[in-house]
Formats: sequence, C-alpha cells, structure tokens
Amino acid sequence: MIYLKTDDEIELLRQSNLLVGKTLAEVAKLVKPGITTRQLDRIAEEFIRDHGGVPTFKGFKSPYGPPFPSAICASVNDEVVHGIPNDIPLKDGDIVSIDCGTLLNGFCGDSAYTFCVGEVEPEVMKLLKVTKEALYVGIEKAVHGKRVGDIGCAIQDYCESHSYGVVRELVGHGIGKEMHEDPPVPNYGRRGNGPLLKKGMCIAIEPMICQGARQIYMADDGWTIRTRDGKPAAHFEHTIAVGMDKADILSSFEFIEQVLGDKAI
Ligand code: MG
Ligand code: MG
Repeated sequence: MIYLKTDDEIELLRQSNLLVGKTLAEVAKLVKPGITTRQLDRIAEEFIRDHGGVPTFKGFKSPYGPPFPSAICASVNDEVVHGIPNDIPLKDGDIVSIDCGTLLNGFCGDSAYTFCVGEVEPEVMKLLKVTKEALYVGIEKAVHGKRVGDIGCAIQDYCESHSYGVVRELVGHGIGKEMHEDPPVPNYGRRGNGPLLKKGMCIAIEPMICQGARQIYMADDGWTIRTRDGKPAAHFEHTIAVGMDKADILSSFEFIEQVLGDKAI
C-alpha cells in the first residue's frame, strides 16, 4: 500500500528529516581519527532526544538477531550499511557511513552520509563522490509520471559506468509515519518499470555502492552488511517527496557540509 502525503504531512516529514540532517552535522563535527562510533552514537542520540525526537533505529527488530542497539548505523570501510557502533577508534584513511533515523511529530526522517576520517586515498574519495552524485542522479528521476525503475536504472547506469558494484539485496523505501513503507526503491532496475511515481509519494533513495564487486554478506552480529571482497563501500541517502516537475528533497546535507567545509564530498 503506497500512501500519498498531503502538503501538511510533507512539511512534518521535512521537520523530522531536518532533525536528521542537523544530527548528522553534530556527528560531522566529531569525525576524526581516534573517535569511536559509540561516542558518535551517544552524541547523535542525545541531540535527537534534546530536540524532541526519537531515534527510530534503536530497538529496530530483525529476524536475524537481537534488536538494533543504537541511534545510528556506523559502517566503516568494507561495511556497507547497518554497522553497530562500537569502541574501535576510527583511523586516518577510514571512511564511515553514518545513517540516522528519527521520529518527530509522528513522522520519520531517514538520511545517511559517508564521511572521510582524516586523509582518504583518492580512489576511495572517488567512490564517495560518485555515490553521492548517483543519489542526485536518482533524485532527478523522482517526478510525477515516471516509475520507480527509472530511479534505479539511472543510479545503476551511473555507478556501473564507473565500474562500481551496485548492491541488490538492500534498497530504498517509502517513508512516512513508518520508517519503511511501500514501495521498495532499488538502486538498480529497468527504465519504465515498477510502481508509478505520483506527486506526494515520499521515498528514501539510498545508493549503496561498492568499489569492487556487489556481493555482500551479513556479519555474525545479525546486522552489519559487508562486501564479500573486502573492498570499501559508500552510502548516501535522502528522503524526498515526488513532485510534478522535480523532487522536493526533505532531508538536508547543508548542515553537514557547513561543518565539513572543503572536506565535503
Ligand atoms: Mg537510512
Ligand atoms: Mg532508509
């Protein structure tokens, strides 16, 4: 069941997603060699709660193991998504994807950004840039009258033109009062296929892109998704509302990139 949102509901979704963007900016202030992802998680959870939100990831149930224990997913290097914050200090040259979800005034926010820790190799930086560009290439297709497959096809073509692997098993999603609503929004697909996009549909678009092969596996913790070949992967995510002529991006990287300055991806 796909729920179309009213303009008022879209504004509530925007508020929740702006809180995610501001939370990720607080995280951005602290990402550097030596900090642990558990420290980042604490800051994120405190910031969300201080602003009247609830971290939706915390306690999220899984068929594969215990509920997710943290407010953010922190996925380092070959971890693609769903990494559990831990006490291992980040090192110079690492990348870390931080994914964050909130519930505010009854509506969900969901957005992710991949950060560089200190100085990152140029090839890894390129992976981050292409993944972020792929997100916007997908967003361009999120207009009334197109189809979900148009988004996936655009992202897939763009990333594969750089010889990167596009993860198949994990996808974007509708979003609203629930963090995961219909329709699924794959980062691959065929042009003109899949559910019709309509004004008022709200979806999270989130390319998960591998420097090497697209094959992944789940770690023993029942959450962390890693690349099989051990090469790095990147993840950027925006929540958007489908519009008549262009998508309305409800989440924001603006606060993050103010913090990062010339270190923005
Ligand atoms: Mg997310
Ligand atoms: Mg998502």
